[in-house]
Amino acid sequence: MEADVVFLHPPSIFDFRERPILWGPINDLVPSKSVFEMYPIGFVSLASTLQSNGFEARIVNLALKMLRDKDFSPGNYLKEVETELFAIDLHWLPHVHGAIELARLCKEIHPDTPIVLGGLSSSYYHEEILESIPEVDFVVRGDATEYPMLELVRGLRDGNDLDAVPNLSFRSGSTIEVNDITSVPDEIDSFSLDYEYVFRSVLKTRNLDILPFQEFLTRPIMAVLTRKGCDQNCPGCGGSSYSYSKLCNRSKIALRSPEKVVRDLKNIEEFRAPAFVIGDLAFPDEEYGREILRLLKKEGLSIPVVFEFFTPPGRDFLMKLGETVGNFSVEMSPESGIEEIRVEAGRRYTNDELKQSINWAFEAGCSQFDLYFMIGLKGQTGDTLNDTLEFIDGLLEKHSDDNLIPFISPYTPFLDPGSLAFEFPEKYGFTKYAETLMDHYELLDSGFTWKDFLSYRTDEMSKNDLVRLTYESAIELAQIKEKHGIISADKLEDLSEKIALSKRMIRLSDAKNTGQLDEEQLEASLTELQERLLIDRGELDWSNGVTARRVMAVLKKGIKTLFTPA
Ligand code: SF4
Repeated sequence: MEADVVFLHPPSIFDFRERPILWGPINDLVPSKSVFEMYPIGFVSLASTLQSNGFEARIVNLALKMLRDKDFSPGNYLKEVETELFAIDLHWLPHVHGAIELARLCKEIHPDTPIVLGGLSSSYYHEEILESIPEVDFVVRGDATEYPMLELVRGLRDGNDLDAVPNLSFRSGSTIEVNDITSVPDEIDSFSLDYEYVFRSVLKTRNLDILPFQEFLTRPIMAVLTRKGCDQNCPGCGGSSYSYSKLCNRSKIALRSPEKVVRDLKNIEEFRAPAFVIGDLAFPDEEYGREILRLLKKEGLSIPVVFEFFTPPGRDFLMKLGETVGNFSVEMSPESGIEEIRVEAGRRYTNDELKQSINWAFEAGCSQFDLYFMIGLKGQTGDTLNDTLEFIDGLLEKHSDDNLIPFISPYTPFLDPGSLAFEFPEKYGFTKYAETLMDHYELLDSGFTWKDFLSYRTDEMSKNDLVRLTYESAIELAQIKEKHGIISADKLEDLSEKIALSKRMIRLSDAKNTGQLDEEQLEASLTELQERLLIDRGELDWSNGVTARRVMAVLKKGIKTLFTPA
């Protein structure tokens, strides 16, 4: 394969196929497997920007290839690649092991080909990366690296001085050069999550290397970006206002225009796939969302759309949403049923406000309302978790005829670098077990279970407590769901068995340090364990799987994009 730039997405743990791993609830809230095979969607925007500026760019989801084919050899594959630049994502820190190992492999096979890393985590650790990983030549920092990447590729091609490439950190002899982050666009209309590029690439290359995640063809969901940045400061979030200003030099939100958001939704409609709108349309300025709904009403939209809300939306907004989008779902993360703990987690609204909003959403025709609760929050104890489960039980009692689906999961495996909790752990009630990039790498490299990977504890919960309470809460929540008819008795039993097995794995792993571990027994047990422990994937599926209509729509759209100039 030949291309000017090859974007490579690594698995979170590079040798995941060669050693037993108990992933636990690491991936339960995203549509990908435990190896986090879903690449950051910014890859698509980066590749299509390069492509439209005359450079051949290819995206290879290496994690997915490794997942789909146990015999697939990344080394053999890379030997066949000819490129001027490898670009590897290190956006989410759980990819630190995969990103570093992949960079090492690329350099071993192609010693003269430069390697660039990008994403929020590499922006945070750019200096350490260049100091301690000699295989990596560049880091592009910030949240909008399309222009810096283009300038880097041009600079490498023309042999230009790289001092002029914005947002770039690079090695120059024995020193690390850090260019200022000056590419921070306020206008983000020109960046789009161009799914046409994805399908064009599939048709052109006749392979599925670019698929964003394993189930993309059977359970697709396509994201619509509404903004870059955030004006909130939830302590555990690496995408907060504080983090964006520190890592990306972004001091305020950049919003995509309502016209572009509507156009993106209409484009996705052509694929007959569900859409996920990233960013609360009603917050901080409800008028922004209202304008999108006004425009959308004129156009009409026939696909299911999932909307996330940071704070409970008002009745009028939800009614407008229901009138405009026939099939809509809602996601909210109240984090805790205890208001004081929720406020500490950055969400300033009451249980009554949340309850009202849920009522209005169903009144407006909401087809599914997902509520996410977290384990491991400041001030949270076993007792407050029980109170949260009671709160959930009460909500389900009230909404016995509605499709209200609660989830509960811990922050795993790491605190987000650059988040307030990471920067000021004492103030926010955390103790960190990993500070540097390589500390996190080591946790994944030497660890065996998700308990080993955890990079923190809270003031109230040790690692043991976090694991124990996660499993106890998962069982209790499943019992509540079974009581309300959300899951079957069989599913509850299945989950209980899986959790019992997981707990056994953790005990075995704990015994590793005392030399008691029987590897054979461990591996045999692991093969019995299903990857997903806490959430039924079906509950996250808004797509109804593959339909003949969707396949036809994708083919039609694919053919159309193939014959449309890029
Ligand atoms: S979790 Fe909070 S800080 Fe992070 S993106 Fe959402 S609203 Fe912003």
